[in-house]
Amino acid sequence: MIYDTIVIGLGGMGSATAYQLARRGKRVLGFEQYTSGHTLGSSHGESRIIRQAYFEGVEYVPLLLRAYELWQQLEQDAGCSGELLHITGGLMIGAAESATFAGSLHSATTHHLPHEVLELADLRRRFPLFQPQQPLLALYEHNAGVLHPERTVQTHNAQAQRFGADLHFAEPVQHWHAHPDGSGVTVQTTRGSYTANTLVISGGAWAARLLADLELPLVVERQVMYWVQPQGGAAAFAAPNFPLFIAELSPDVQPYGFPAQDGPDGGVKVALFRDGPPCTPETLERNVAPTEFDRLRGYFAALIPALDAPLLRATACMYTTTPDEHFIVGLHPHHPQVAVAAGFSGHGYKFCSVMGEVLADLASAGSTHHPIELFAPHRFMAPTAD
Ligand SMILES: Cc1cc2nc3c(=O)[nH]c(=O)nc-3n(C[C@H](O)[C@H](O)[C@H](O)COP(=O)(O)OP(=O)(O)OC[C@H]3O[C@@H](n4cnc5c(N)ncnc54)[C@H](O)[C@@H]3O)c2cc1C
Repeated sequence: MIYDTIVIGLGGMGSATAYQLARRGKRVLGFEQYTSGHTLGSSHGESRIIRQAYFEGVEYVPLLLRAYELWQQLEQDAGCSGELLHITGGLMIGAAESATFAGSLHSATTHHLPHEVLELADLRRRFPLFQPQQPLLALYEHNAGVLHPERTVQTHNAQAQRFGADLHFAEPVQHWHAHPDGSGVTVQTTRGSYTANTLVISGGAWAARLLADLELPLVVERQVMYWVQPQGGAAAFAAPNFPLFIAELSPDVQPYGFPAQDGPDGGVKVALFRDGPPCTPETLERNVAPTEFDRLRGYFAALIPALDAPLLRATACMYTTTPDEHFIVGLHPHHPQVAVAAGFSGHGYKFCSVMGEVLADLASAGSTHHPIELFAPHRFMAPTAD
């Protein structure tokens, strides 16, 4: 069979792309080296923050508004409305001039997003578990929430298959090439050779290898997530009493955390944004020493004293970061039949649903109406001397 599009990598971005293409009636073939919803890449750890008042850039907000709609569309298609995206509310905490607070406020006011600004005394009164030791402000965002990464990857893949996609798991891609006349691509895996009209490359932390010809300046970083058993028990740490939070204690110290999860493994998940040493998927230290949390515990306790508490478990994940921390999404600069999605810099998960739509547009029409200029792959390429 001649396929319309091959998708390499069926993690966060690739599973959403396969779903969007199959839903449009396209003939899709997808390859994933591991299983659907595996825990060896960047889309695991049971929770991801989604929010709209984006401090990383006001340009992201239209994409986020569409991302929410498409997460809900996925829930409807899968018959699980309200189960994949949980609105919990979120606190963006920092000094008045901090990127986290001021940037969130800028996006919220520019796009008229529902929000409240809380002075320190308001924050302490309204959310008493938060007792910052510094004079900080908080932006409370009503629409912030939590996505379950493993479950949403599995749902995107399952819905892609229901709409007719042919997805091959445990089948690593060894290499690919674009046909020189621009008419198609060939992909070689451990099991065979396949052709299609267009290709989407969404390889996460493995992207630099799949896109070696572009020499993208991607840095893979080890990032650890920790689950703690808060003082007094986890029950008090449920939303809406305990919303998700991102706090900027100083420009380089940004702890964040989630409302408590149900179940015997529960606990409160916390982590430190962009804290990890560089690695590759092969050299990543997947074991987490218990002492690693000891180094961070003080940051959480300085904000939420009850989190000065025992560690339940921890797991490592990978960020794939670009120099400007904006994504790389667009057509391959040398091959118009190839779309690339990489470098999500530790903040990509919430966008998977809309990136699926963007990549489906690029693969089937060569363009998209979504604003993706900020993510142009060629911004990191040396200018040609002509
Ligand atoms: C600890 C941590 C916390 C985070 N928190 C948030 C958050 O709260 N909110 C948020 O929005 N984002 C967050 N992120 C970032 C977000 O999770 C990532 O940006 C997103 O998961 C990246 O998706 P991806 O599809 O690029 O990568 P992945 O989901 O890893 O998918 C890439 C896939 O490609 C496959 N692959 C690679 N090479 C091949 C090959 N040769 N053949 C076949 N398959 C291949 C891999 O196996 C993998 O499944 C966090 C990330 C981490 C690590």
